[in-house]
Amino acid sequence: MMDITALIRENVKALKPYSSARDEFSSSADVYLDANENPFGNGVNRYPDPYQNRVKERLADIKGVNAKNILLGNGSDEVLDLIFRAFCEPLQDNVVSAPPTYGMYQVLADINNVENKRAPLKPDFSLDYEALLSQINEQTKLLLICSPNNPSGNNLDDEVIERLLKNTNTVVVIDEAYIDFTQKKSWIHRLSEFPNLIVCQTLSKAWGLAGIRLGLCFASEEIIAVLNKIKPPYNINQLTQQKALEVLDNEEQFRQNLALILAEKTRLEKAMAGMLMVKGLVPSDANFFLARFEKPREVFDILMAQGIIVRDRSRELHCEGCLRITVGTPEENDKLIAAMEKIDLTS
Ligand SMILES: *Cc1c(COP(=O)(O)O)cnc(C)c1O
Repeated sequence: MMDITALIRENVKALKPYSSARDEFSSSADVYLDANENPFGNGVNRYPDPYQNRVKERLADIKGVNAKNILLGNGSDEVLDLIFRAFCEPLQDNVVSAPPTYGMYQVLADINNVENKRAPLKPDFSLDYEALLSQINEQTKLLLICSPNNPSGNNLDDEVIERLLKNTNTVVVIDEAYIDFTQKKSWIHRLSEFPNLIVCQTLSKAWGLAGIRLGLCFASEEIIAVLNKIKPPYNINQLTQQKALEVLDNEEQFRQNLALILAEKTRLEKAMAGMLMVKGLVPSDANFFLARFEKPREVFDILMAQGIIVRDRSRELHCEGCLRITVGTPEENDKLIAAMEKIDLTS
């Protein structure tokens, strides 16, 4: 088994974390005079639980993992940033990612002054194992894999990911933001096999909670301990924790919405497959898909003029002509289909 400690930054290993009032006294009492809070109640006058134990226990139950293997962040963006800061020495270490993929990886690398080395996906958006290996060197700390991938929407090959986990001396971060939309099994069930595995998920997509900013990180207890050391003490606010608990308690609603989104995706794909101007659709395991057009910008502009906004991904690698379309409500999708059926690009 590989030694994950060797990959952690020296300053992170050495640092003594901030000790909050709730770190020093975490059981319950009648009178709290230890955190300089305002005593007059308004529902949020107390600091929130710094380790979000209730939310984690609920998530552990839903996901079938141990709460000790979970860290929560202010969106996945904070989780990913913590991972960069734990492992990557600025101006020295590098990460490897597989474009076209989530734009935040490059931004986080830039913010942290860490090189992002690119091992492009193949034109069919599958992982290129040889290309990934060729980019990895002694200074590579993170491999960033997004599956299902954004913007292409497809699952990446688990067999290739497993080879990367086994054969590289790096942390492999699997971003599963869209995992709930696919039949594929999550990597969170394999944490005990791979000490170098980190899985990121989010409540922003299938759970419909983009507005509360709650990102999930699953990893070994050792990695979770390191990330806990460097996270802002109260990184998940009280309102977010409350709303998350409320929504996580309604799994039935979650399942209903999910089923409707998937049915609507199929309906949108079928409608578009029959349109002459659509040159192709990329098979999707997520709640969005790429559609190819000869003149994507014209289509984008015509839709925008009717108040329908899609994402132009046509300048991304292997995405020539592609617009990325998120599945909406049945009414929204009806509007999109109607607007597209009226488009005449021959004139
Ligand atoms: C939407 C998305 C996320 C979610 O980010 P949050 O900060 O949790 O909202 C993460 N990764 C990918 C690839 C995404 O597309």
